[in-house]
Amino acid sequence: MTRALILGGTADASQLAAEIARAGLDAIYSYGGRTRAPADQPLPTRIGGFGGADGLAGYIRREAITHVIDATHPFAAEMSRNAIEACASTATPLIALERAPWTKAPGDRWIEIADIEAAVAALPEAPANVFLAIGRQHIAPFAGKPQHVYTLRFVDPPEAPLPFAAKVIVSRGPFTFEAELDMMRKRDIGWIVARNSGGDGARAKIGAARTLGLPVIMISRPHLPDRHRVESVAEAMQWLRHRTCLGA
Ligand code: NAP
Repeated sequence: MTRALILGGTADASQLAAEIARAGLDAIYSYGGRTRAPADQPLPTRIGGFGGADGLAGYIRREAITHVIDATHPFAAEMSRNAIEACASTATPLIALERAPWTKAPGDRWIEIADIEAAVAALPEAPANVFLAIGRQHIAPFAGKPQHVYTLRFVDPPEAPLPFAAKVIVSRGPFTFEAELDMMRKRDIGWIVARNSGGDGARAKIGAARTLGLPVIMISRPHLPDRHRVESVAEAMQWLRHRTCLGA
């Protein structure tokens, strides 16, 4: 009998949950608990960490999970590493549903770097208006370049004070190309810091930056151990159906 665990928190995970529910398969959707009002899912849902790889392995055993689909954000590397470890130790089939990264198009002015610290270093010394298109848990190192005026965009209003004074936009995506263009023009944005998340939902800002000729400091995805990975919900469903038919 199949009982899948979806590690979620992304639009792809929501689409997958809808497909699994439609197919009538037994599955649990797991949220990390970062967002205050996560979207409803058509599947039983749990929220919060498992307690590392061992905690996840315990959960897999307790809940008799037969398949794990890691549909977390490409930068949610800790969860993905834990999933690899826990699935290996419990011999549970694992697949990662991860959209392809964006690739540079003509007109893009990307500075591709490895991590947040390198992004801070890549910003100019002269004061600029900088759009930090990254999660709030990653912004602290930018306090090291206080000469810039930072614009941040969050899904929820910040609960705790930010590590530095910044302009905050509270809004949930996806954002259109026109809206991104308008936002960048109105705020006279000169630099953008983004992570190479891929997908359509966050792509508009990259297109707007290209149109405005703005430099984008693009943080590459974290390195993960090899795992079976697909890029579409259809492929993840195929994998699940195939493994289910085989009773794997
Ligand atoms: P992370 O750094 O890889 O995870 C930190 C810890 O949070 C994990 O070790 C795990 O705790 C817990 N966790 C993360 N995702 C979980 C899930 N789906 N279910 C249960 N526990 C989870 O991840 P993150 O970057 O903080 O992202 C947290 C969640 O937000 C993920 O579900 C991700 O898909 C979603 N999200 C992230 C981003 C982003 O930019 N990173 C963007 C959109 C959505 P334990 O070790 O205790 O199990």
